[in-house]
Formats: sequence, structure tokens, C-alpha cells
Amino acid sequence: MAPKLPIYFDNAATTRCDPRVVEAMLPYFSEKFGNAASRNHRFGWEGEEAVEVAREQAAALIGANPKEIIFTSGSTESNNLAIKGAALMYAKAPAGQQGRGHIIAAVHEHKAVLDPCKRLQREGFDVTFLEPGADGIITADMVAAAMRPDTILVTIMWANNEIGTINEVPQIGALCHEREVVFHTDATQWVGKMPTDVERDHVDLLSWSGHKIYGPKGVGALYVRRRKPRIRLEAIMDGGGHERGMRSGTMNVTGIVGFGKACELCAQEMEHERERLLKLRRKLEGELTRRIEVAQVNGHAEKRLPNIANVSFGFVEGESLMMGVKDIACSSGSACTSASLEPSYVLKSLGVGDEMAHSSLRLSLGRWSTEEEVDWAIEAIVKAVEHLRTMSPLYDLHKEGIDISKIQWQAH
Ligand SMILES: *Cc1c(COP(=O)(O)O)cnc(C)c1O
Repeated sequence: MAPKLPIYFDNAATTRCDPRVVEAMLPYFSEKFGNAASRNHRFGWEGEEAVEVAREQAAALIGANPKEIIFTSGSTESNNLAIKGAALMYAKAPAGQQGRGHIIAAVHEHKAVLDPCKRLQREGFDVTFLEPGADGIITADMVAAAMRPDTILVTIMWANNEIGTINEVPQIGALCHEREVVFHTDATQWVGKMPTDVERDHVDLLSWSGHKIYGPKGVGALYVRRRKPRIRLEAIMDGGGHERGMRSGTMNVTGIVGFGKACELCAQEMEHERERLLKLRRKLEGELTRRIEVAQVNGHAEKRLPNIANVSFGFVEGESLMMGVKDIACSSGSACTSASLEPSYVLKSLGVGDEMAHSSLRLSLGRWSTEEEVDWAIEAIVKAVEHLRTMSPLYDLHKEGIDISKIQWQAH
């Protein structure tokens, strides 16, 4: 059966809000409009109660205590608060001086981690950006080797948003606790899809976001450990002292209610959804690499999220490929929005060549992805690649058995 087009395979960019989440939110736009910080009347209490329910739902999803949840506007803000807040709190020298402390991150983090780290670098902190292996994974050994006596913070994402690879977070967390270094993880792609327990996995600070887990956009949370050890943060946003002084500003009650509901639904449905999506992802990758020669799945074969497939195709040009599959909403390894056509820095960090990085597709499945859609997408991609290759002189040479990499190109 033909699916409804276009197919949405860009769930790593954002997800559709679950109708059950929308339903839970609706009253908080209208009759239940109170300010959660209004302590003197029923409207305020109603708002506060709703926020506290959401705090419990969010905490339950990651094995935290509700008191350890700070609501934010999303993962970008959570990452900024965690990284800048911890760096400023645990700095070894005052502002304006060098040698304020050492931070460990990875080169293929999301920009919402890289950019705060780069700002801190300009402000007197030292930052080591670890390179992953060819499998895309950051191991605890890599972090251990980068540790210094003045290391104050480690920030390593749980799972990568472009390739879905899973870093050694529990082991990195254990290492950090042993060395008494604060550990933050950007878990935006991980939480809600995979079982998470901040106690078992030794996490001190954890960011996640509503719109990646079938909740609304513009709301997220930061987990801040309260005991063993108690983590303190310098606030980034000053104001009314909301959220234990760590994040001032009137609470987005409606968004927070939706976020809480989204967390609850993920907790209930994760196990089933994980298996279903893993089967679909394996079919997608398996068929594409079986039917198309010179196609590769990027990132570790097994240690990957169930829903993200990142596949590169040789002898096709990235932009033409995207045009050729325009009924599939997905992402490519080319940042074609920028003036200069830069290949993905994530794929480059794995050692994927520029050509293969440009011609990659990130296909990210979600709660409403179906097998019909996967089957349709496989046919469409195979057809598009075959068509583009009929126009590629390089592919002709390849078929004749000539090793392209050994050709000496002559400039005319
Ligand atoms: C989407 C995403 C972010 C940004 O989250 P927002 O809530 O949109 O600010 C940060 N990190 C990762 C890994 C993401 O996938």
C-alpha cells in the first residue's frame, strides 16, 4: 500500500506532538491560566500543582528525584545552564584570568554544547575536544586519557543526533565520580527512547527536550544532582528566583504540562517502541546496503539508537540526491543552508570523506513511522541513486574496475 506523502523521516530534528499531549495541555491555555508562582489564590495553586505533576513525570523517566528537575526552554538552554553554570561555579580562577579550569567535550557534540564550550574557552577556560573513533563513539578510556588535575567538567552527549551512536556514558560517569569531576550529558536523543537511570549511570547533569519526545517545542529540562555529590550551578538567567534560583522566569505551565505528559508516555511505551523501530531501521539499512553497491551505514554497527539511520552513497551528488527523494522528509550530510557547501562535521570526525559525507542521508524514524513508509522509502532511494548514477562518468569508470582514487587528474 502506498503511504501518504511526503513521508516524515526527520524525527531527530523534531517530532509531532502526541495528541494525548495536546489534550493534556489544552485546559492550561484557557481556564487553568494561573501563574505557578502566585501563592495567594486558587489559580496559582492549580498552576503550581500541574507543574509539580510534570516534575514527577519527568523525574520518573530518568530515575531522578522531582526536586532535581529544573524546567527550561529546551536542550539548548539546558546545555548552556549546565555547562556555563558548572564552569562558573567550579572555576579555579576569577573572571579575567587564564587557567580557570579544564573542560572535556567531544568534537561531534551538538552546536548547543560546542558553542557554550567555545565561549568558555574565550573566557579563560581550557577545553579539550575529543575525537571519536571511526565508529563515532567516545569511550571512557578516551576521557580518562584527557583528564588533568584541573579538570572541572566533562560534557559528553549520550547519543549523537546525526548518526545515533551511543557513547560510553555510564562508564564515563563512573570515572567522573571517582575523580570528583562534574559530569554533564546532552541526552536529547537518548531520553525517552532508551532506559535511563541517573543513579546507576553516574550522571550529575542531564539535558533533554520536549519536542524530541513527542511533546511541545520550547520546553525542556535539566536534571541537577542534589546528593552524592550535590551539584551547584551559577544561574544564567536572573530574575524572580524560580526553580531554586537556577532559572528565573514565569513558568511555561502549558508547555511543562505537555512535557510531563510526553515523558509519561515515553516511559510507558518505550520498550515496545524501541523494538518496533529497531526492526524498521534494520530493514531500511539492510535493504539499502544490499541493493545499492558502494553504500555504507555511518557509525558503529550495533551501538546506535533504534531510530536513526545515516547512510552514505558513493557516486551521487548530495544535493541531487536530496532532490531525487523529495517525498521523503529527511536530513543530509551537507549543510546546504550555508553559502559554502560544508560536509557534516560529525561525519568528518569519523573520518568519512567529503564525497561520502555530502551524499549521506539521515533517516530518523518515530512513533508514527510505518513499515509501508520504510518499504516505499527503500524503493524511492534505490531508484534515485540508480538514476543519478546513469549520469555519473565516475560510476562508469568504477564499473569498469578502475580505482578512482588512483587516477591522476589532468587540469586542462
Ligand atoms: C535537538 C537537539 C538539541 C537542541 O534542543 P532544543 O530543545 O531544540 O534547543 C541539543 N542537542 C541535541 C543532541 C539535539 O538533538
